[in-house]
Amino acid sequence: MSDRVSIAAALKGCTTVLISTHKNPDGDALGSQLGLMLALEKMGKTVLAHNLDPVPEIYRFLPQNDRIKIGKPVQGRYDAFIVLDSDPPRTGLLDETYPAAVLINIDHHITNPRAWPLTWLDTAASATGEMIFTLILELGVKIDRDIALCLYAAVFTDTGSFRYSNTTPESMKIAAILLEAGADPWLVTENVYESFSYHRLKLLGAVIANMERSEDGRTAWVVVTDELYRRTNTTAEDTDNFVNFVRSVKGVEVAVLFRQTGSAQYKISMRSKGRVDLSGLAQSFGGGGHKNAAGGVLDGTLEEVTKLVVREVEKAISAQMGNKGTI
Ligand code: 5GP
Ligand code: MN
Repeated sequence: MSDRVSIAAALKGCTTVLISTHKNPDGDALGSQLGLMLALEKMGKTVLAHNLDPVPEIYRFLPQNDRIKIGKPVQGRYDAFIVLDSDPPRTGLLDETYPAAVLINIDHHITNPRAWPLTWLDTAASATGEMIFTLILELGVKIDRDIALCLYAAVFTDTGSFRYSNTTPESMKIAAILLEAGADPWLVTENVYESFSYHRLKLLGAVIANMERSEDGRTAWVVVTDELYRRTNTTAEDTDNFVNFVRSVKGVEVAVLFRQTGSAQYKISMRSKGRVDLSGLAQSFGGGGHKNAAGGVLDGTLEEVTKLVVREVEKAISAQMGNKGTI
């Protein structure tokens, strides 16, 4: 039996289900979570969606997003607990004991250690939303307009609007079916990419003004500090996708965003143009991700963290590319 079939069979036998996803949830995380919640409810199940962090403003158009419970304590016991789009610890909830007999993990990150027996990991899927689409078909639920919108938002955002190398014929075929089922593509685009706050653009300007690059031009990076948030009246969610501007520079192979998360702690977001695999490097920093998009959290002063990460990125570029592409 495939992992998908085993998970569908297990879910059919459950009545109450808890669904969670990773910290700082993105479009794939939330679209997958809400799409699956709506599908399971159509089967008559009682579902609680619960995440550590709130839904970012740009995803507040997703159907029923206001039902997602937020914060560390999780109430109640459930027949099943499903973790989507991340390994279970990255939910930041429930340290070791989980309030359910059936534990299900559905993800597409190559760095997922498959800690739970009912893990379905498909690293060829562009988004967890693609996997949820096939799971919902397996469960025999009709994809209505709301479910279609959630899953379309998941695939659309994780493929960078069908531009990244993870875009496959399968992602396009699924997107076509979701549009036929009533997903409105402009609703997603307008909310996710055309509704930025004035302050966010001011922050972007300040961040890009201080962009740095290595001597060979293959590594470039930007920094967002607490001081900058204060000065521009912004928050961490306003930095979403900033790292892509840094990657877009000609000659850059790897871009890094350092975002302050504590007095001596920084979250790193790394992006590659495809010639350097970042997943192992992110894991060596205690994080994870994909080949071209990976991240983690590091303790240290800004100087320590930037120095270490830039040095390791440069090493990875040299090891994987030699001196090709230096300027
Ligand atoms: P982002 O840079 O957008 O935060 O993340 C890029 C990719 O790396 C995403 O697929 C994300 O799930 C993964 N990622 C980012 N930070 C972490 C982390 O701390 N741990 C793990 N396991 N994955 C991460
Ligand atoms: Mn994803």
